[in-house]
Amino acid sequence: MTFDELRAAEASFHMPVYGRQPVAFVRGTGTMLWDSEGNEYLDFVAGIAVMSVGHSNPTVVEAVREQAGLLTHVSNLYYTEPQVKLAERLHDLLGWGKVFFANSGAEANECAVKLARRWQREQGRPGRAGLVAALGSFHGRTVATLAATGQPAKHEPFAPLPPELVHHVPLNDADALEAAVDDGIGAVLLEVVQGEGGINPATPEYLKAARELCDERGVLLIFDEVQTGLGRTGRWFGFQHSGVAPDVVTLAKALGGGLPIGACVAREAVADAFRPGDHATTFGGGPVPCAAALAVLDVIDKEGLVENSAAMGERLVTALTDALADVPAATEVRGVGLLVGIQLAGEFSREIVDACRDRGLLVNNVKPDTIRLSPPLIVTAGEIDRAVAIVADVLKARVA
Ligand code: PLP
Repeated sequence: MTFDELRAAEASFHMPVYGRQPVAFVRGTGTMLWDSEGNEYLDFVAGIAVMSVGHSNPTVVEAVREQAGLLTHVSNLYYTEPQVKLAERLHDLLGWGKVFFANSGAEANECAVKLARRWQREQGRPGRAGLVAALGSFHGRTVATLAATGQPAKHEPFAPLPPELVHHVPLNDADALEAAVDDGIGAVLLEVVQGEGGINPATPEYLKAARELCDERGVLLIFDEVQTGLGRTGRWFGFQHSGVAPDVVTLAKALGGGLPIGACVAREAVADAFRPGDHATTFGGGPVPCAAALAVLDVIDKEGLVENSAAMGERLVTALTDALADVPAATEVRGVGLLVGIQLAGEFSREIVDACRDRGLLVNNVKPDTIRLSPPLIVTAGEIDRAVAIVADVLKARVA
């Protein structure tokens, strides 16, 4: 298929929900991707913070190949070893918790929302069915997780969403949070760094205040680490920067190394509120994505990728801050680890993405006025410097 044929077929046969860029990828290795015309790209999108161990990572490829040849799917009617091993591994990484495996970030959050309701009911507080979440947050596209997402424009086409479900408050405003957590609230759901909202970190003080408030009022604290988890921020979990631990944490994105898997991990006493039949999914925790995830966690661990994320993230933020200091098109660089945002002086991020792509660098227009850089955690100093040079050149050429 030529690219034009591909584009025409996509337009005919797909629901028109994606605003795709005019490029089709055919191959990837490490931090590099190649398109159908043979062009090479340095990938600072990483499949939206998914390909942390790099494209076609040999350890992950081998684990998938081996597991697919052995056993692909049997459902959760039965036990399978990769699933049990992965749950134990996540427990060991956190130092606590029982796991439910889902197939995506939204589904991991959906599990957390249902678990919070189930747990409150077990405590004799069935009326505590609501959630408090932050404005600017992103938690997924299912009905409940869309309702939790603090972006009114995304709700509008699907209104009304369940009105009793979510109250939104400004991020980093502890007083607003305290006022919102009333007798109808069962959980507070937060990203430790808002990813889709434009790379907005929650402050450690805010997270501490949220923890204290939740403890005081018998409310669960859920951290959505779908984007920030597993080394992205330079720690295994983003919450470790603040020292504030949640009752429930959700993961997805990087976990499967490109295969679809999500996880909701809850403290044992919370997790045990679920009973057999309360929650389930046909594909969740299948042998192949679990084998891939075990390989991903091995690679992150053995190759020191959490440490590399911290070091390369610092290099990226420092180099961008220096390079863009006198560039009017960019007003701020912010980030934690390898989750970095460039605030633009106006709503022209798509233009910047296109210009970078034309020069062989993939970055993402997370918002009309914000660029996100989230390279694989294996990224090298040389690749960081190359990316910064391209971004700086492109932004210098843009009159703000
Ligand atoms: N939560 C966060 C913080 C996310 O960034 C995302 C996706 O970007 C999701 C949830 C939804 O994940 P998925 O697209 O896998 O459903």
